[in-house]
Amino acid sequence: MTDTRSTTKRAAIVINPAKTVDIDVRELLAKHCEENGWGETLWFETTEDDPGVGQAKEALAQGADLIIAAGGDGTVRCVAEVLAGGDVPMGLLPLGTGNLLARNLGIDVTDYDGALSGALVGTERKIDVVRARRSDPDKDQVFLVMAGMGYDATIMADTNQDLKHKVGWLAYVDAGIRNLPGKPVKATVEIDGKRVVHRGVRSVMVGNCGKVQGGLEIFPDAKIDDGLLDIAVLAPHHGKLGWLSVLAGIIGKGKTKDTAVEYFQGKAVEISLEHKDDYQLDGDHEGENKHVRMTIEPGALTLRM
Ligand SMILES: [Mg+2]
Repeated sequence: MTDTRSTTKRAAIVINPAKTVDIDVRELLAKHCEENGWGETLWFETTEDDPGVGQAKEALAQGADLIIAAGGDGTVRCVAEVLAGGDVPMGLLPLGTGNLLARNLGIDVTDYDGALSGALVGTERKIDVVRARRSDPDKDQVFLVMAGMGYDATIMADTNQDLKHKVGWLAYVDAGIRNLPGKPVKATVEIDGKRVVHRGVRSVMVGNCGKVQGGLEIFPDAKIDDGLLDIAVLAPHHGKLGWLSVLAGIIGKGKTKDTAVEYFQGKAVEISLEHKDDYQLDGDHEGENKHVRMTIEPGALTLRM
């Protein structure tokens, strides 16, 4: 067997086999590779134990010139964790229900042909990634869309998957109502070394880009390539109506005087809670957490789309 690596480009795909789609991904990808003179694709499937990091590392080790993340935001997050800081670009084949990164980038999540052709021969753009280092247990991860500690993460853990599929972000509102009687947690938030919050909150959310499902923008000013994190601190007033002021704050894009939602920007944020609370990265519940430091890595990931 001859080594054709230097002459023929090879793509790898890291695919979540649990996502059912009405297309034959293998066949479609083979067609696009052949049309563009690429070699046979390296095929990797994610598992529950390894949702993409190990597969992306193996794809790099085998010399892939491009890695296509095919799945939901969880798969994308894991592949990005391996590719961030390197030269190999990432392609996107959105197969999830949220596909938040793809939507924030304006990708048509129903156009599989367009996605694959863009991944192989599209234009490249660099985006920021956020590195999140949590303690207890120590874990170093990256995310691309948004992360949170507190109530928003509880919602992610509790959202009914069927409902999420049917009605999008309204499912989060449903979970939100079911989680209403939550207690605030004392939080300290430091941005670029300066303490900006030290009080009871229900949620601290950190965004790299702004949109969630249904076009609702949690972070109205967030841009994925501005080298800045956007931070939202949610602290509803007592009683059920308190959450309405949070929603009003988000819809009012933080321009109200109400302290139910406060927005900040910076390059690094450190969040310390008085006790553990739910933690989520790009919509995946990551257990409970008490302390995390998040830093922006400007332009660390190359996307081809
Ligand atoms: Mg940004």
